[in-house]
Amino acid sequence: MRRLLVAGNWKMNASSEMTGTLLSGVLDNLPDHCDVAVFPPFPYISQAVDLVGGAGVAVGAQNVAKDDEGAFTGEVSAAMLADVGCTMALVGHSERRALYAESDYDVLVKVRQLVKHGITAVVCVGETLEQRKAIREESVVSEQLSLLIGELSNADWEKMIIAYEPVWAIGTGETATPEQAQGMHAFIRSELKKVSDTVAAKTRILYGGSVKAASAAELFSQPDIDGGLVGGASLDAAEFTAICRA
Ligand code: PEP
Repeated sequence: MRRLLVAGNWKMNASSEMTGTLLSGVLDNLPDHCDVAVFPPFPYISQAVDLVGGAGVAVGAQNVAKDDEGAFTGEVSAAMLADVGCTMALVGHSERRALYAESDYDVLVKVRQLVKHGITAVVCVGETLEQRKAIREESVVSEQLSLLIGELSNADWEKMIIAYEPVWAIGTGETATPEQAQGMHAFIRSELKKVSDTVAAKTRILYGGSVKAASAAELFSQPDIDGGLVGGASLDAAEFTAICRA
């Protein structure tokens, strides 16, 4: 049985004060029927880890370096993330793919780094509006998954979560319908059968794209949707915890 996960991607929004306020709001209203994770910017990860104190909220990073250590100015390694108590990291978010040219191969290398250090990778996939209009959404997502499916072992997949985030729904206020999202999640699960039936059955697939408390319940009740990756709404503790309770 897959447990629901609601994960908040704070993107480049935070301060020490905001991290404290947001997390205390989340900790005061923790649901017990689902897992909760937050992904603050790097400088606030240690503060977040200290604040949650192992209290049922996982703390993740929004990115990770492809290398172990050395002359890579500005990068943060998986070993460092593990060292400060990070247990998850986003990889291949559409903003990183579009703004920083992160490729499917980069995604694979980063996932390998995370898995090596016992950190769960939340790999984001999803099509643009043009690709959906051209009815290419399944081929685009299949291509984004293909290196992972071909290269990672069953054991690696135990440290994997997929987030389906249609690019046209991220930060736009436009959410995929539950039918559109369920259709793509079922497709992703069928792709994961290429690894094994067990991986297909066990891997959590989150939906992301303008999720709000009002849309969460219907989305999360779809058979192949195992929770959400939430951007904008995760910056409001009341809205985020309402999504967790949905
Ligand atoms: C995201 O950036 O991962 C995201 C889903 O953002 P939003 O919820 O704001 O669309």
